[in-house]
Order: sequence, then C-alpha cells, then structure tokens
Amino acid sequence: MRVIDLINNSGKTLFSFELLPPLRGHNINSIYKTTDPLMEYNPSFINVTYHQEEVVYKKRENGLLEKKTIRKRPGTVAISAAIKYKYPSVEVVPHLICGGFTKEETEYALIDFHYLGIDNILALRGDAPKNQRTFIPEKNGHPYANTLVAQITDMNHGKYLDDELLNTFNTNFCVGVAGYPEKHIESPNQAYDLKFLKCKIDAGAEYIITQMFFDNKKYFDFVDACRHVGITVPIIPGLKPICTMKEINILPQIFNIDIPENLVKEVLKCKTNEEVFKTGVEWGIAQSKELMQRGVPVLHYFTVGISENIRQIAKAVF
Ligand code: FAD
Repeated sequence: MRVIDLINNSGKTLFSFELLPPLRGHNINSIYKTTDPLMEYNPSFINVTYHQEEVVYKKRENGLLEKKTIRKRPGTVAISAAIKYKYPSVEVVPHLICGGFTKEETEYALIDFHYLGIDNILALRGDAPKNQRTFIPEKNGHPYANTLVAQITDMNHGKYLDDELLNTFNTNFCVGVAGYPEKHIESPNQAYDLKFLKCKIDAGAEYIITQMFFDNKKYFDFVDACRHVGITVPIIPGLKPICTMKEINILPQIFNIDIPENLVKEVLKCKTNEEVFKTGVEWGIAQSKELMQRGVPVLHYFTVGISENIRQIAKAVF
C-alpha cells in the first residue's frame, strides 16, 4: 500500500523506521537482527537508505596511493525486496538519490522497484561525496530532488524518457521527500529552503519525512512555516535517540542540527555510554509521547544499525 494511503486510512499515529544496508562484506542477517525485535510494534513501513559510491585511497605495496571508487553499503534494492517478502504486512520504502544516477539509470531503478511490487520511494538528492565540496550531478542526472520527483511522477503518468515508447505502463509510486526543521545546511535561510521544499511537493511528492531533531518546538515551528507557504502534505517527524557521548558533537556537524542544552547536560552527567544510551531512550520517549499527543501522522525512527533503543521507545509509546 502507498504510504499516503496508510496515513489517510489510520486514525492514529503510525510507527515506522529506517534501516541502513550493512557494510559491504556483511550478511543480510545483520538487517534482520535490527528489524526482528521491532516487528512486535507493527511498523507500517520500513525505509532502506541508499548510499552513493565514494572515492577511497588504498596504499599499494610500492607506497603509492591508489584511487578506488567503492560502495560501502550496497544492496538497497535487494534489501528492499528481502524485507518485503520476509514481512508481507509491512510496506518497504527504498530511498532513491540523484547522486551517481543518470536519468536513464533512475528509470531502470524505478522499473526494478515496480517489478518487485514496491509502491513507495523516498526521493532525495544525496550529499556531496566526502572528497567533493559540493554536490555535482551526473551528466544528464538530476541536480536537485524536485526533478527526480518529477521524473517519478511522469512514470506514474506512463511517461518514460523515450517518448517513442508505446503502450507504457503507469507506475503507482507514492513519493516522499526530506524536510529540514533546522534548515538544510546549504540553504541561506529557511524561506529559501521552504521554497524548494514546496517545489518537491508541487512536482508530486505526497509527504515529507524530517531530518532528526531533539527539540520538538523546532518540528512544530517547521510544520507551521510549511503550512504558511502552502505545503499541506503530512509531515512525518524523524527521530534518532542519542546513543553515545561522541554523538553530541558529531550529530550537529553531520546533520546541521542543535542539541538542546538540557539534553547535553544530561549526557555530560553520564559516566558510561550505557548511561548515555539510557538517557537517549528517556529523551526519545518524552519526545515521542509529546509528538503523539499532538497528533503527528507517524513517528519515524532512524535506527543507524541499532534497534534496542527504538524497541524500548516503541514499547513505551505504542
Ligand atoms: P534537495 O531537496 O534537492 O535540496 C538540496 C539543497 O538545495 C537544499 O538546500 C535546497 O534548499 C536547495 N535546492 C533544492 N532545489 C533547488 C533548486 N531547484 N535550485 C536551487 N536550490 C535548490 N542521503 C543519502 O545519500 N541517502 C539516503 O538514503 C538519505 N536518506 C535521507 C532520509 C531523510 C529522512 C533525510 C532528511 C535525509 C536523507 N539523506 C540521504 C540526506 C540527503 O540526501 C541530504 O540532506 C542532501 O544534502 C539533500 O537532499 P534533499 O533531497 O533534501 O535535496
């Protein structure tokens, strides 16, 4: 079922979470280790992230460095299929990015998802690879997520890249996009960011999943700001519990987010990472309960390979 229909047909807050494909060389069972403990709480959908190629430098025997392009976390399509068939009652939402894809390759990926019976896509631009300062699209690729959304909408109308194709099939993808309560790092201000968020909705996206945030006020203000510019689709809060001491410095750097003073104070009182983990769960429960009371459509959790904290939150909230 399409995510938007799951939301519209439900009178209560749904539960969903995001998975990272395992690092190359690992086994699919590491995915099931994350998903199995969460199934008890009836997730409505599971997202699977997509990871672009990265350039790495490997030392050769002669001491020189060799430049190599690798994908550390391949397997989004296969994991999406595996999840779909292992848990038939749960929808799977693969992520599809602009980075590394030409429009033709995007079309092939969408055809694969369609053949697998997958009706949901989270459409994203992707970040610049670590060795690049700015995002550079492929030649004949999408520079921003809004044109990727438009390509998927075209396929939903039976319009493929080759307009000489006859009797084309209309796909039925429900497309979600990313939103940033604390603004996307490259945007000069929130108004600019919202203008382009609206472009993604106008191109056919039917809901938004937010970047993680630790202060619910940021989410509520973001929803108000979206409504103010005419964005009316459901806005799903994305949540990630703090797990380790290091994260209070790393998460703001990676995701351009603030960690509230009270949460930082609680984390700094902890003597071990086990205590930080517990603090993260308590904060996550409080955040989730308030969001649920305010009637959010879905509570969506970023697992980042760990599900015990999400399990504890889900147990307290759902
Ligand atoms: P866009 O919507 O294209 O926006 C990127 C920036 O460009 C913004 O600053 C925007 O304001 C600006 N902009 C947009 N359109 C235009 C335009 N037409 N002209 C000028 N400026 C414009 N990354 C991955 O690689 N894989 C994943 O699986 C993944 N999953 C994610 C899941 C969620 C819920 C979130 C919130 C993020 C995820 N990301 C993922 C990260 C995401 O790819 C990055 O944040 C990326 O930098 C922006 O992606 P976007 O789709 O929001 O980009």
